[in-house]
Amino acid sequence: MTPASSVRVAVGVATDRAGRSSNEDALHAADGVYVVADGMGGHESGELASRTAVDALRTLAEGSPDLAAARAVLRTAHQKVRALPARDKHRRPGTTASGVVLSEHEGVACWLVLNVGDSRTYRMAGGVLEQVTRDHSEVADLVERGVVARSDAAHHPRRHVVTRALGGRSAQVEPDVFWLPVSPGDRMLVCSDGLTDELTDARIEAELKAQPDPQVAADRLVAATLAAGGSDNVTVLVVDAEVEHGSRSNPTGVVRILAGD
Ligand code: MG
Repeated sequence: MTPASSVRVAVGVATDRAGRSSNEDALHAADGVYVVADGMGGHESGELASRTAVDALRTLAEGSPDLAAARAVLRTAHQKVRALPARDKHRRPGTTASGVVLSEHEGVACWLVLNVGDSRTYRMAGGVLEQVTRDHSEVADLVERGVVARSDAAHHPRRHVVTRALGGRSAQVEPDVFWLPVSPGDRMLVCSDGLTDELTDARIEAELKAQPDPQVAADRLVAATLAAGGSDNVTVLVVDAEVEHGSRSNPTGVVRILAGD
């Protein structure tokens, strides 16, 4: 007998154009789907690309999606973004996508983590922030191969060159999708590179630790990014999970996951 688990989620959302004429980031944060997309291809194309991807991903709210379902939706999103008209013949519309879907795997409440590109998903557990997605970028590859020091990556001139995207030039996409069991007190952070270009992981961790309210935390992270001189669209989702064991009630606003009988 696996005990039933209830996962209660509280979400904070903040986004800002950071002085640009448009916001090419898009987000969805409801019904168990918490995702950010950062569009590319010139502002109208970028906005359309990120919105198209997020609209596809929000369909993961239905049922309890598994890794295969997430891969299928990401491939559909890729084809939809590829089908968008290119306003600039040298830049096809494309977008990153990163985030979590609250689901269940083998009777256990899990985050289904997904990622394509260099937006990021982090988890803070026990006050320690850890990036759980791997950036699909030239610089991340160079860091992995030991060519560029991790400490230099944030300022590398090619840090914005992504190696995977939804849409863009490549016919296929190979998304990263994996499970993370939900633990009581998990705080997930999903963000565009507008945040991580300006604030170090240590600074982000400090802000998240200082603010128990997810909306206040999200607002403070965006404010800190702008104060640091951020000039890229910035989007932040803070997703807090509380797990209650043994409860079979389902109060309003509580996402309930039954982990078997
Ligand atoms: Mg960006």
